[in-house]
Amino acid sequence: MFRKRSLHSNLNSLQESLLRMKNIVVVGSLNQDISISVRRLPVEGETVLARAVRKGIGGKGANQAIAASRLGGEVSMIGFVGNDSAGNEMLEAVKGGGVDCSGIGISDRERTGKAYITVDDAGRNTIVVDSGANSCVTPEFLETLLHDRIDANTIVLMQMEIPRESLLYGIEYAKKRNAFVILNPAPAAKLPREVYSGIDILTPNETELAILSSAAGKDIAAMSTDLVKNGTACVVVTLGAEGAGIILNGTGVRRVQAPSVNAVDTTGAGDCFNGALAAALAQGYRLDDAVLFAVRAASFSVSSFGTITSYPDESQMEMTFG
Ligand code: ADP
Repeated sequence: MFRKRSLHSNLNSLQESLLRMKNIVVVGSLNQDISISVRRLPVEGETVLARAVRKGIGGKGANQAIAASRLGGEVSMIGFVGNDSAGNEMLEAVKGGGVDCSGIGISDRERTGKAYITVDDAGRNTIVVDSGANSCVTPEFLETLLHDRIDANTIVLMQMEIPRESLLYGIEYAKKRNAFVILNPAPAAKLPREVYSGIDILTPNETELAILSSAAGKDIAAMSTDLVKNGTACVVVTLGAEGAGIILNGTGVRRVQAPSVNAVDTTGAGDCFNGALAAALAQGYRLDDAVLFAVRAASFSVSSFGTITSYPDESQMEMTFG
């Protein structure tokens, strides 16, 4: 089981373990996004006509892997697609994003995961996900792949769109190999208490933080401290236009402001944040600088339309933020 982390885990010990980090392994979902534009969202029992239907690359795992790779990370991805045209398109796109796809399985039994996203003129949306082949990411599938890819130099980046037992297995395995674990707890669901000591950085948004914490309803510091007490070394909570907050044991909230941008599409901003955070840490940035880098990258991404198409590369970051 998980080693119990001392409650005195602090910035220095996090920073020490990051000094040797190099490669990034994303264990997560690949979904084809089917985006349907409508004038207004249908109410229960109603049919409305689509104005346009577009296919795109999605799944939190794929988005985060591409974001990290574009920002200079050496990234490999572990996941599953179906043996179908959507699966081929996903593989092409993730490979095209510079990600090593040799850990992505292809299922003859399950179709590629799909997210059906309906967006109205005011930008409101509803999303229904058909997990499909993502359900093939079992602990047995992960075992060999993790063994070959993870060591003490690895940052493992995970989200919660794969089967729960596989998520828990992945965190436990990564910790056994002394890898550095970042968990983006989305879509959020409560986690067993003992899992927290296997997580180095937890990256919820405010809504997810409230779902995970037993101090829901209190302020960000109290909700995050509750999770740090469970054993996670650090909580980095994303705060939309307000940027992010860093919470270590007993430090209060260190705020990292987002640049002021004209936000036109915030879809996938959290994924950009997580990929950028992993890329920056893998390149040796200190925690505060890595969070600032991730906030800037995600803010860059909300200032144009699209998900991965709006993610910055290294030269765009350099040109925009110096
Ligand atoms: P999620 O997309 O997971 O809900 P957030 O809304 O907290 O996550 O956004 C993640 C990051 O995206 C923020 O930390 C910030 O850097 C950037 N971001 C989101 N919305 C805005 C905005 N309106 N203006 C500037 N940056 C934004």
